[in-house]
Amino acid sequence: MRRSWVPVEDGSHFPVQNLPYGVFSGAGRGPRVGVAIGEQVLDLAAATGDEVFDRPSLNSFMARGPVAWGKVRQRLVELLTDEAHRDEVERHLVPRAAVELHLPFEVADYVDFYASEQHASNVGRILRPGGEPLTPNWKHLPIGYHGRSGTVVASGTPVVRPEGQRKGASEPAPSFGPSVRLDIEAEVGVVVGVPSALGRPVPTSAFAEHAFGFVLVNDWSARDIQAWEYAPLGPFLGKSFATSVSPWVVPLAALEHARIPTPRQVPEPLEYLRCVEDWGLDLAIEIEWNGTVVSRPAFREMYWTAAQQLAHMTVNGASVRTGDLFASGTVSGSTRGEWGSFLELTWNGSEPVRLADGSERAFLEDGDTVRISATAPGEDGVRIGFGEVVGTILPTRSAM
Ligand code: MN
Repeated sequence: MRRSWVPVEDGSHFPVQNLPYGVFSGAGRGPRVGVAIGEQVLDLAAATGDEVFDRPSLNSFMARGPVAWGKVRQRLVELLTDEAHRDEVERHLVPRAAVELHLPFEVADYVDFYASEQHASNVGRILRPGGEPLTPNWKHLPIGYHGRSGTVVASGTPVVRPEGQRKGASEPAPSFGPSVRLDIEAEVGVVVGVPSALGRPVPTSAFAEHAFGFVLVNDWSARDIQAWEYAPLGPFLGKSFATSVSPWVVPLAALEHARIPTPRQVPEPLEYLRCVEDWGLDLAIEIEWNGTVVSRPAFREMYWTAAQQLAHMTVNGASVRTGDLFASGTVSGSTRGEWGSFLELTWNGSEPVRLADGSERAFLEDGDTVRISATAPGEDGVRIGFGEVVGTILPTRSAM
């Protein structure tokens, strides 16, 4: 088993088998690209001499493509495992606790999917009681919508409670005010490295030629605003106020051992959505609400894979760009303890969850903090992790 000369505690999300990329500043260094190893961040521009890392985003490096990504990864493993490099490399390590982590990439376009059958069924039962839980198209195509890339924010950025129009089913007219049904969606997002050409669909087999890595996503959702506005064109202001992403992008290469077969899909999807390679992922997600673990969504049950989502979002000729982010949709497994939103966990607020301090919650209150983390099987039988995406709710219109 490979080990780094950098100390890595058991259970760390960042053993040498992971090597996720992020952007950090501090300890006298401006925003630049680093790699997480144990409790440290390696300053990549300093350690490799490559100026592509002396930038405040990963985009230029991501645009170079899989051959370049593979070479850098191989070099980093050498530098961090071979004692011969220790003297030259050690001085470029900075304690993670001493740096600030930023949005790791400049977000180009943002798309959010809806790939969990359990989540889609739960939401269907809650929002359209008495009807079929799944819409007729659900098993034929990965449903998605275009979100707002400019409000994708780094983990730790406070989330101000949105105001807007909402109308309860029994109310005669809409009213305006702060959302009273503020929720989360625990998701996993793909970051695109290599662009595609306009007019040229990306087949499922080309996923790894374009996708750079994965991040955790919290798709904050104001359910009352959403419920009133979403018909017939889909989510708008109920989601566009903030979307948080984790600071470390886990490269595809680190997740090779987490890959599992694409779920069985009945009916068989159309030709362009069929997969030769498997892109199911065995990720274990955990959601903490003010420090209490309230759910453990299992990503392995997701119906549509990221390779299918990329194929679908380009099948009409739409292109993707470096920095595009597309998220999985809320990750909800088959049992209640595995659901990825509070809408589901509290069944639309009717069955509150109890937190460790004895308080009960239906939706988010001001001051609440939500932390989403995830781990996955890595090389050599070790577990690797995504770190976390965290956010705290501030009252409406308070200064950030
Ligand atoms: Mn979502």
